[in-house]
Amino acid sequence: MGLSFSRYKRAMRFMIPKAEYFGYHHEVYYGLKALGMRSKLRTVIRNDRDEDSSLEITLDKFRDECGVFGIYGHADAARLTYLGLYALQHRGQESCGIVSSNGSELRQERAMGHVADAFDQAALDRLTGANAIGHVRYSTAGEVSIREAQPFLVTCQHGQIAVCHNGNLPFAREERRKLEREGAIFSATSDTEVILHGVARSKASSVRESIPEVLRNTEGAFSMLFLTPSELIAIRDPRGFRPLALGRLGDAWVVASETCAFDLIDAQYVRDVEPGEMLVIDQDGLRSSHPLEAQKPSMCLFEHVYFARPDSLIYGHSVNESRHKMGKRLAIEQPAEADLVVPVPDSGTVAAIGYSAQSKISFRFGLVRNHYVGRTFIEPRQSIRSFGVRIKLNPVRHLIEGKRVVLIDDSIVRGTTSKKIVRMVREAGAKEIHLRISCPPTISPCYYGIDTPNKADLIAAQMSVDEICKFIEADSLGYLSLEGMINAIGISPESSCVACWNEKYPTRITGDAETMWERDHEAVTAE
Ligand code: SF4
Repeated sequence: MGLSFSRYKRAMRFMIPKAEYFGYHHEVYYGLKALGMRSKLRTVIRNDRDEDSSLEITLDKFRDECGVFGIYGHADAARLTYLGLYALQHRGQESCGIVSSNGSELRQERAMGHVADAFDQAALDRLTGANAIGHVRYSTAGEVSIREAQPFLVTCQHGQIAVCHNGNLPFAREERRKLEREGAIFSATSDTEVILHGVARSKASSVRESIPEVLRNTEGAFSMLFLTPSELIAIRDPRGFRPLALGRLGDAWVVASETCAFDLIDAQYVRDVEPGEMLVIDQDGLRSSHPLEAQKPSMCLFEHVYFARPDSLIYGHSVNESRHKMGKRLAIEQPAEADLVVPVPDSGTVAAIGYSAQSKISFRFGLVRNHYVGRTFIEPRQSIRSFGVRIKLNPVRHLIEGKRVVLIDDSIVRGTTSKKIVRMVREAGAKEIHLRISCPPTISPCYYGIDTPNKADLIAAQMSVDEICKFIEADSLGYLSLEGMINAIGISPESSCVACWNEKYPTRITGDAETMWERDHEAVTAE
């Protein structure tokens, strides 16, 4: 028996001051987030700006919230889903789950943590059948979060239905409050459940008819997979905020957030699920329809800058190619007199190769990343803590000493990590440090399924480029222009979302919400 939510809240209230005392910043942060203690959360984040903790480094990036994978018609469906999720692990590390179908019944396994740790042979053996969907999630921490782990599985008038979701449904909150007032019971705080309630209550004669009926009224970002005992349904919101690709493995169909999941299982990429498209896959094959009202597409370009793996195709375009071109373009727009081009690993690496190729300045791995640092890293107490960013990155002194270095990173969010990296490289003996960023200044938070700091903590929303340069203590700082970034990715600006760089949101957005938690839970206002 797990804790009831009220007992969990009482326990968290007791534990948070102790975690604060011992300097366990991640636990404090995620505890407050889970409890929705907004003003305290803001204070913790602001105070942490000056501290040398790994929470600060964690917060200093935009974070994707989820990855989805589905397969129809393969005898090893659960194991292939496991591998697909393993390839998508970078899109969410806090919980994961698989639901399989053997044609008459759905079975579910969910767990906290990484895919490789969460599933063993026995769990995969229990997931029988030729069809499956799976999910990796980046969310709040704590035991209770298992309730938020997807796919969700319910039984209703249509029989068993499972769902998993990448995106954000801000407008589902109003519907949830309405349903709660009417006596509906929810097992998690996720808005994805609201969609399940809608499907369960729909008068439509089948699940495939009820899904568009419910989603037609829901503005937001969703790349969603549904599984029933007899069919797999994939649907993408009409603006196509989050990616969703379709592939083939022999006679089986596969769908995934990124094509790197296809590569691991030897599946072939067929095409993207189009914005607003619904695919129904069952024993009669695959059928496509466009049941949602067409909108101007708004595909998230941050996928190409940072979120997606460089070996993926996103919106049909190679992420590796985009980043390489961004680096080349950055070298043209923001040149520097230097001896070495050094990437901030890993996401700055491909852009740095492009910068080096264009500028003819030598590329070297002058910073080495420890890949094994996770949220579970226990920081020592304040009195002996001095690792800072070094727990993740270490400079190669003999390469850097006495050199003029161009550092390439994908973005600056709060600025604090950049400052620490610049200091660290200078302490390793660099003569000059020129920081170059392969996208424009990020000035506004995301409302479409990406965890971003609030606007007040986005350094580019508060300071000019010169002021940021001074703050991070670099000798010079240069960003890629918006036009340069869009050209490098090669997707038309008319089909793209670039709101975190230009504040032009393609939809209505939540009121004055500052934190991601607030953006998830505040009432929605009209434009
Ligand atoms: S606001 Fe930024 S991160 Fe969010 S969907 Fe748009 S481009 Fe992507």
